[in-house]
Amino acid sequence: MAYSFSGGISLKTENKTRALPTKPFAEPALVAVPLSGCLPAVSAGDFVDIGTCIGFGKTEDCPPVHASVSGTVVSVERRPLDKGGEDTFVVIKNDCRHTVVSGLDPISKPLWEIKPEEIIARARNAGIVDAGSGKSLASILRAAVGKAKRLVINCTESQGYESISYRVMAEQTEAVIKGAKLIIYALGLRKADLVIEEKKDKLIAKIEEHITDKALVDIKQTTSKHPISVDNRLIYAVYGKRVPLGGSPLDAGYVVIRPETAANLYRALSTGMPMIHKRVTVSGDSIKTPLNLIVPVGTSVKDIAELCGGTKKRFKRAVKGGVFTGYAVGENAVIEKTDDSLLFLSSVKAERSGCVRCGKCIDACPVGLTPSLLAAYGEKGLYSEGLSLGAEHCIGCGCCAYVCPSGIPITALIKKTLKEGRTEDEQA
Ligand code: SF4
Ligand code: SF4
Repeated sequence: MAYSFSGGISLKTENKTRALPTKPFAEPALVAVPLSGCLPAVSAGDFVDIGTCIGFGKTEDCPPVHASVSGTVVSVERRPLDKGGEDTFVVIKNDCRHTVVSGLDPISKPLWEIKPEEIIARARNAGIVDAGSGKSLASILRAAVGKAKRLVINCTESQGYESISYRVMAEQTEAVIKGAKLIIYALGLRKADLVIEEKKDKLIAKIEEHITDKALVDIKQTTSKHPISVDNRLIYAVYGKRVPLGGSPLDAGYVVIRPETAANLYRALSTGMPMIHKRVTVSGDSIKTPLNLIVPVGTSVKDIAELCGGTKKRFKRAVKGGVFTGYAVGENAVIEKTDDSLLFLSSVKAERSGCVRCGKCIDACPVGLTPSLLAAYGEKGLYSEGLSLGAEHCIGCGCCAYVCPSGIPITALIKKTLKEGRTEDEQA
């Protein structure tokens, strides 16, 4: 039986991009690679190869960043981010020669001759970032040494459009399993679980063919209800362990990463190539040709939209991070290492009216909150009341707003309560 949880929502629409093999897109004329807090290692006019280090990080949380195309650095500039704040970007004009940096240093010795510390160091030097947590793989592994009990590869995608984890499991099965084994070894764990939504029999059969040691790597199946793909929900559904408020799965003993991250680790060790590409599902009701793409990090939203045949007339906004939990981005935004999807959507906001006390939001809330009341407090500016009613336990999954027949922006009002309530607390 599939693991599940109470609340949440089952989406009726079929995810059509799951059937689409991932296509490479290697020819954007320009990329703008975000340095994610690193210091620039290049200047305008420099020539870079694919894999040249263009940003140095000072800490494990801030791994180095590498050129995703070969060509000339046009500028190193500060740009605002759609999610707030700003970052330094290295803008590279692609010469389309695909020259790769010299001196890549793949590991050829057998696994048992690699020191665990070397695996973590390689993860850092390769600049691998996990799209699920948004953290550097090296910092995830470092924090997990001596603390983690199990590795969990979270292959679930419950927001309706994403299919990158599905495609990675179908196309990179061996790399994911080998990457998982590297992590098991680096952390001294006994086992990894590949957690997949139920009713994916063909995919599961394919993965099972590649699992040579079932005591080491197991498959667990879950419901496909949203928000199963949220790590903390998944840990609760599968293992019955609650992650403490404000904590991560590691606080309950689990290291959770996406399958692409495991495959990236294996590739970094076996080829020496750092993380320079990102796989993304391009979908939504307003893009002409939905695709699964592998693109150089720093490819713009505009270039991707053009590659997908452009947008339909009803197009209103591009969204990164999922239809429930994402945020709107402009056409100059670029694909970052933490992006799994880029959605082109029409406006779907329902006509706003008053709460009819139907209780649907309460039934849908996977953490047992009373969203209707929290929304009412948020609207009236009663932030401390919202906090005392448990607003801090909200995981921002968006289920409540999705089911509300009155079009009340419940999740946004709870987010407002959290922001304003914490500010009030700090000022008190
Ligand atoms: S209140 Fe928070 S956790 Fe509950 S359904 Fe709404 S967004 Fe999700
Ligand atoms: S779903 Fe909307 S209308 Fe129904 S109780 Fe919740 S806030 Fe009120």
